[in-house]
Amino acid sequence: MAELEKDCLFCKIIRGEVPSYTVFENNDVKAFLDISQVTKGHTLIIPKKHLVNFFDYSQEDAARFLQYIPLVAQAIKKSDPTIKGMNVEVNNGEIAGQVVMHSHIHLIPRRGENDPISTPHVNNADKYSEDDYQAVANAIKNNL
Ligand code: AMP
Ligand code: ZN
Repeated sequence: MAELEKDCLFCKIIRGEVPSYTVFENNDVKAFLDISQVTKGHTLIIPKKHLVNFFDYSQEDAARFLQYIPLVAQAIKKSDPTIKGMNVEVNNGEIAGQVVMHSHIHLIPRRGENDPISTPHVNNADKYSEDDYQAVANAIKNNL
């Protein structure tokens, strides 16, 4: 796998050194559950090339990596009939709320007006067991 960085958390996820709940993967991108689950089904799509954020992207990178956003968004929506909409969000740079410095696109399902806002991210990790995460990931995977 080319162009990965040794100490980057998301490069470690790509290499399998840090576990994740994968929903989609090919040679170019990986999509996995965001551990914080701002809302249920909250997923990240990341390029397998270590790009810090959109300021790092060539047009070719954009075409190659961003084309998967609708595919994964549609699978998430199909995985749960209570999902009515979805925010697709990207934080570019620390000042914009970026914490992990490997480009990632947030897909955050919206079910109702009381859903938590997404930036800064609420952390619901204490509400999910490993089985819960796996069930959410499987439901999405089954719709891809
Ligand atoms: P950002 O603020 O846009 O950089 O978002 C970083 C996101 O990465 C946050 O929503 C975190 O919950 C998420 N995150 C951090 N570590 C992990 C991990 N090991 N697995 C999945 N998501 C993670
Ligand atoms: Zn990286």
